[in-house]
Amino acid sequence: MEAASTPTRRELGMHEMWCGADTSGEPVWHVLTPDRTSTLCGVEKEEESPRRHTTDRHCFSCMQSFQAVVASR
Ligand SMILES: [Zn+2]
Repeated sequence: MEAASTPTRRELGMHEMWCGADTSGEPVWHVLTPDRTSTLCGVEKEEESPRRHTTDRHCFSCMQSFQAVVASR
């Protein structure tokens, strides 16, 4: 099974990344739905925290969903 790769900016298109917590509370980059109210993995987007998280981790569920979207185009 191949690891999900980080999408390029062009691939992202109208999708935006959002840095939020994963199920264990660690910051990860999620991919937002086009309406930007939730993430592809189903997490509801919260208000931006004043403290800007930075992480190299990406939400695996979001990456899988996103790549499925890209592959279906
Ligand atoms: Zn996610």
